[in-house]
Amino acid sequence: LEMRAEGVGLFRTEFLFMQRRTAPSEAEQVEPYRRVFEAFGPDRPVVVRLADIGGDKAMPYLDLPPEANPFLGVRAIRLAGRNLELLSAQLRAIWRAAARAGVTPHVMAPMVATIADVELLLELRDEARAAVAASGEALPERMVTGVMIEIPVAAILAREIARRVDFFSIGTNDLTQYAMAADRSNPELAYLQDALHPGVLKLIAGVVAGAAEAGIPTAVCGELAGDPAGALVLAGLGVGELSADAGSLDGIRAALAGVARSQLRDLGQRALDAADASAVRSMAAELLA
Ligand code: PEP
Ligand code: MG
Repeated sequence: LEMRAEGVGLFRTEFLFMQRRTAPSEAEQVEPYRRVFEAFGPDRPVVVRLADIGGDKAMPYLDLPPEANPFLGVRAIRLAGRNLELLSAQLRAIWRAAARAGVTPHVMAPMVATIADVELLLELRDEARAAVAASGEALPERMVTGVMIEIPVAAILAREIARRVDFFSIGTNDLTQYAMAADRSNPELAYLQDALHPGVLKLIAGVVAGAAEAGIPTAVCGELAGDPAGALVLAGLGVGELSADAGSLDGIRAALAGVARSQLRDLGQRALDAADASAVRSMAAELLA
């Protein structure tokens, strides 16, 4: 709030699940969510990301077997097949916290790949509401429900997914890792991790187009959004919302304030035709100079 954020684009709830022997209960989750909702109030949305755990962020209480490729493994929404209650309890806690803070909750699921994942999310959301309402609590009418687009197949299916949800938030960190088939934690492959790669930008442009067709907004919550060059290119591709660390907000605001909308659009178009990420960076640097 001190950095004049208009909301929170990515509330990483997995921190509540780490360094514990058991998963936090529904009751234990309500208070931290309520505090954040109340601080931001009804006019600055806080987008809660359902716990992005499993895979490389294994928690002992999940009792998951070791996996050869944890980044391609049983994580996030895929944990539903093993531990549905984990997601359900979190959704019930969000409903309760929003009711107590007097806000409409905004929620998104990470690692969505298929339409079935989306349908599961919507079903769990509605079941969670019914369960909390049955206990007599007065609840907000709706939960604004979105998905993260961070798996290439979800970007390709953007049009179909957009018809079913309220917003998209693109996770450029994972989208780049999966599109480039390059482990994001391997420093030797860091040269393949620049989300400004035109191939990744083409995926992003497709997501924006699919969302526009359905009339839903597209945000970016990966690290590219906090990079001034990235912010310009993303805005040029029609991304309407950027989510970044509080410390990056001044830098991206300054970058965006210095250019006209027509220059951004032109940059977006030229970036799609560039040969590689460094060519895109040079184009953006000319506007930032
Ligand atoms: C992303 O993948 O871009 C993202 C925002 O999520 P995380 O970095 O937590 O995987
Ligand atoms: Mg991610």
